[in-house]
Amino acid sequence: MSSKTLRVAVIPGDGIGTEVMPWGVKCLQATAKVFNIAIEFEHFDFASCEYYQKHGDMMPSNWKEQLISFDAIYFGAVGMPNLVPDDVSLWGSLLKFRREFDQYVNLRPCRLMPGVKCPLAGKKPGDIDFWIVRENTEGEYSSIGGKMFEGTDREVVIQETVMSRVGVDRILRYAFELAKSRPRKRLTSATKSNGISITMPYWDGRVSEMHKSYPEINLDKYHIDILTAHFVGRPEIFDVIVGSNLFGDILSDLGPACTGTIAIAPSANINPEGKFPSLFEPVHGSAPDIVGKNLANPIGMIWAGQMLLQHFGYIEAADALLKAIERILERSEASVLTPDMGGTGTTQALGEAIEREILSLA
Ligand code: ATP
Ligand code: MG
Repeated sequence: MSSKTLRVAVIPGDGIGTEVMPWGVKCLQATAKVFNIAIEFEHFDFASCEYYQKHGDMMPSNWKEQLISFDAIYFGAVGMPNLVPDDVSLWGSLLKFRREFDQYVNLRPCRLMPGVKCPLAGKKPGDIDFWIVRENTEGEYSSIGGKMFEGTDREVVIQETVMSRVGVDRILRYAFELAKSRPRKRLTSATKSNGISITMPYWDGRVSEMHKSYPEINLDKYHIDILTAHFVGRPEIFDVIVGSNLFGDILSDLGPACTGTIAIAPSANINPEGKFPSLFEPVHGSAPDIVGKNLANPIGMIWAGQMLLQHFGYIEAADALLKAIERILERSEASVLTPDMGGTGTTQALGEAIEREILSLA
């Protein structure tokens, strides 16, 4: 933990991103006040479809210079498909951040919270509590490949997977370190080396090699097919799971789905070396269907702020914020919870309840 001021660029983006962001910032400010953390927020209106409508682009050409000196980007959501095609809005903002700021780790906690109805039978809080570490820059999502014999019945399409030693080792190191910091010291690697015969055995080999430097870690590997089945059947066996870009992508949607509602799940895109800002956001998108109704659940946004504090080493504050969210969920007051959780509350009621809960610790 450092004593310097944490500088956070606030980008609400589109749709409910703009509605949940104020509560994310308020809860972070409340936590910072209680735990005496210096945080400075600066707001930006770009990376939104409204900005695109005014300027013909999602971001100004100097966006990188404007953001690069921040420690973190706190991001709401992007996309208004009725105004701007999703590929334009996404590739013009969020995916640029990930790529240009080398946010090669995508991190998602999957934790069953009290008061949340779990779609898996018989699971209670504590049964599901694991982290997914996804490689975010290479792997299956390369654009190398092409078409041959197009338009004939010999037509073939090919797309390559790229795994570099640097790219694989850096994501594995992050995952081993995360597993080492957790009480169970358990790491699961997602593979498919029985079907994908070049890249996946390479991945497995790098996992085994790195395990030599982390003898205290209890390592196992599962093929992706059975791994997804275990997410549903035996989620309690997992602690930290690491996967390539594609496998991590699939797991990091399935994981939060197993814990109830995507509206409360957070996600971080991290540049671990701190050379560039890391980005913290809710898993959900802009949800145009509920915009302007004060119905959006702000917990995903607030929990993303909790990940931000944790990432920068403010562990006590981060733990307290997570506990505050848990206590509000546990009380399950219908007038506070938003309709997606079965309540009759509003964005404001739920946001305020969490903010008050944190301030009560002072
Ligand atoms: P994306 O394109 O990024 O997937 P989206 O705009 O399609 O985003 P999602 O965020 O994926 O929407 O959400 C799907 C649906 O879940 C929304 O249309 C909305 O009804 C509901 N939802 C999502 N987030 C929330 C939230 N924070 N509170 C309440 N309901 C939500
Ligand atoms: Mg969607």
